[in-house]
Amino acid sequence: MPELPELEAVRIRFGPRLSGRRIESVQVNPRKGFLLRSPLPQFNAELAGRRFTEVWRRGKHLIFNLQAGDSDTGYLAINPMLGGRFQIASSSAKRQAATIFSLLLDGDEDLRYLDVRDMGRVYWVRDLNAEVPAWPELGPEADSLPEHGLEWFRKRLRRYRAAMKDVLRDQSFLAGIGNAYSDEILFEAHVLPLRRRASLSPADEETLFQAIPGVLSRATEAILANPNYEESKQDRSFMAVHGKGGQDCPRCGHRISQIGSDREPMNFCRGCQG
Ligand SMILES: [Zn+2]
Repeated sequence: MPELPELEAVRIRFGPRLSGRRIESVQVNPRKGFLLRSPLPQFNAELAGRRFTEVWRRGKHLIFNLQAGDSDTGYLAINPMLGGRFQIASSSAKRQAATIFSLLLDGDEDLRYLDVRDMGRVYWVRDLNAEVPAWPELGPEADSLPEHGLEWFRKRLRRYRAAMKDVLRDQSFLAGIGNAYSDEILFEAHVLPLRRRASLSPADEETLFQAIPGVLSRATEAILANPNYEESKQDRSFMAVHGKGGQDCPRCGHRISQIGSDREPMNFCRGCQG
């Protein structure tokens, strides 16, 4: 599931390649049109002819601003959920079966959205707040903590009572963290995922405050530094514990624990997280 770092990497890589380009036509996979949260005729008719003006991210959504004329901006907002991936491909390259839609651009390239799990959510809207579910409830961006400061973070954190794994994944607490990076952040902070928030000491809170933006920015850098990284495959081999159940902990050598399925694992180290 793409989280903040994967979507940041897409934004940084795709933004400059898309900026100013015109959508010549739209092709929706006839078997996958049900993933679009706006009526198909409207999606096809309204996107064609628009230009990309901005690519940005909010939580686990990637948003493409698409402009027609001088003042009509619409938003293509995509939450890829578990299996959504983005791809810029030559228009002549064969479309994979998981392709949901292709936007054919000037210059013979396509922006393609693929979804191997058919769970992603695609919205074509004029008003994100009003038309994308739960948008108004999204918390501050998880990578914005340094701007807000430690005391602000402590106050915000203390409103929550759940296990830390759930607090970190709660999009109203901070936007952008999901199952994988919550494992990585808690490992970095030496905190077990099922620890209740109230059991954290002030020192734990400070460690967590540092770990959240640190883990996210290092992951974004690792993705961007990999020349062979394919958006459509989402390599996460750089992670410390997530997806590494049964392997040795890179910090203490203890065996990494796993709870849950291989598809949606929760990983942590009993040796060095407490
Ligand atoms: Zn360990």
